[in-house]
Amino acid sequence: MATHRDKKLAEERKHQSMQNGTKASQGQWGRAWEVDWFSLASILFLLMFAPLIVYYFIMSCAQYQCSVTAPLLDLLTGNKHLSDIWNRTPMLTSRAAGIYSLWVAFQVVLYMSIPDFCHKFLPGYVGGVQEGAVTPAGVVNKYQINGLQAWLITHVLWFANASFLHFFSPTIIFDNWIPLLWCANILGYVVSTFAMIKGYFFPTNAQDCKFTGNFFYDYMMGIEFNPRIGKWFDFKLFFNGRPGIVAWTLINLSFAAKQQELHGEVTNSMILVNILQGIYVLDFFWNEAWYLKTIDICHDHFGWYLGWGDCVWLPYLYTLQGLYLVYHPVQLCPAHALGVLVLGLLGYYIFRATNHQKDLFRRTNGNCRIWGKRPEYIECSYSSVGGTRYHSKLLTSGFWGWARHFNYTGDLMGSLAYCLACGFEHLLPYFYITYMAILLTHRCLRDEHRCRSKYGKDWERYTAAVPYRLLPGVF
Ligand code: NDP
Repeated sequence: MATHRDKKLAEERKHQSMQNGTKASQGQWGRAWEVDWFSLASILFLLMFAPLIVYYFIMSCAQYQCSVTAPLLDLLTGNKHLSDIWNRTPMLTSRAAGIYSLWVAFQVVLYMSIPDFCHKFLPGYVGGVQEGAVTPAGVVNKYQINGLQAWLITHVLWFANASFLHFFSPTIIFDNWIPLLWCANILGYVVSTFAMIKGYFFPTNAQDCKFTGNFFYDYMMGIEFNPRIGKWFDFKLFFNGRPGIVAWTLINLSFAAKQQELHGEVTNSMILVNILQGIYVLDFFWNEAWYLKTIDICHDHFGWYLGWGDCVWLPYLYTLQGLYLVYHPVQLCPAHALGVLVLGLLGYYIFRATNHQKDLFRRTNGNCRIWGKRPEYIECSYSSVGGTRYHSKLLTSGFWGWARHFNYTGDLMGSLAYCLACGFEHLLPYFYITYMAILLTHRCLRDEHRCRSKYGKDWERYTAAVPYRLLPGVF
């Protein structure tokens, strides 16, 4: 599949990167240099089926009251043909195209034109210009961290409109949900294709590009590490953080407004989903500077996986619970509602506290207190391509002594709480916990593979000291 030119380019880039005197080994970052058949098969599967999966879920709500089995049964028994389902699907409309273009343009303006002012008056908040981690080529990018401000301005305007301006109905997102899906897909494909072309012809930093020579793999996993337009428009930060995640809470609010319109009330389950997911989104923006040090930004290249995923997968599938509750307004008994709230808040606490412990430990180089005590850790070292030796530390106390990825465990508990808020009548709301369990388990394995090759024997000592990944005593 790889052309001779692609292979030659891959070799040239690899050689260039190696010669660049990078601060750490290229092999330690991001996606692979070479593609094995399993990765290729998974990628082809996702490229073909991920858009269909999103369509299937959204269509099953619009046409089958969120039953995921009913459309399949209809098709298998010959009751309906694909064309029947397709013919009942709303198409792209000029109204949806207008709303979507305005939305993305507004987020671009907020991102590019209003430097952060929140850090000037919010104690403890880190915003403004911040540095990311060192890239494989040894570059340290600067980022304008103003996501919290963008989120606040957007939501103030939303509530102002809903309360007294009345320019549009708060149900606008729900009412255009499928036409907006086509717009999100167009943006997702355009941005991923643009990123691919840019990687080949005008990369922001040629030393930070990876070419495997396999078109599909490069398209999916990305070529450029940090594609930018100009000095500040960073694709990864913008698409990861803005149109999708800012929209997440607005989408839930629109679903709540639709529930009110259709059923005359907003149920406690809808309120719980809005609150718990709202906390998660706000946490993301409050910690946006920390986010620069997570795997998405530090290790992943920008391709279809991030570009299309942030435009389509995230806003459409992470909000399935709210969508479901419009069709099935579940009113939970107090004990059930309290259970969901406690699980959600406990999950969030574990997620945040675990991430905070690692962040504090790494920032202070171990000169801190974890649960009131000096942290315990394993000293480790690794080599760069040029043979330079670097030192690092792996925390083995606090939540990091319980399991190697207890932050993921907290995330999974929170995810389960959103699903449980929807009751037990249908499978569709449980897609989220299933997906997160697969995503985070795969992420554990991917991250550990990388860490093992980075730290070698020191990683073995660490896994002996902290033997479990997610659940102490189980896995
Ligand atoms: P982590 O924040 O766990 O970062 C992993 C890295 O931390 C490793 O590669 C290693 O990097 C370092 N590390 C590993 N163990 C230790 C240790 N014991 N002490 C110190 N450093 C250590 O992973 P992510 O970036 O994937 O996740 C960040 C958060 O984002 C998580 O809470 C996760 O749940 C959440 N998330 C949510 C998603 C969603 O869609 N909702 C998707 C993905 C993540 P090094 O090379 O520096 O040693």
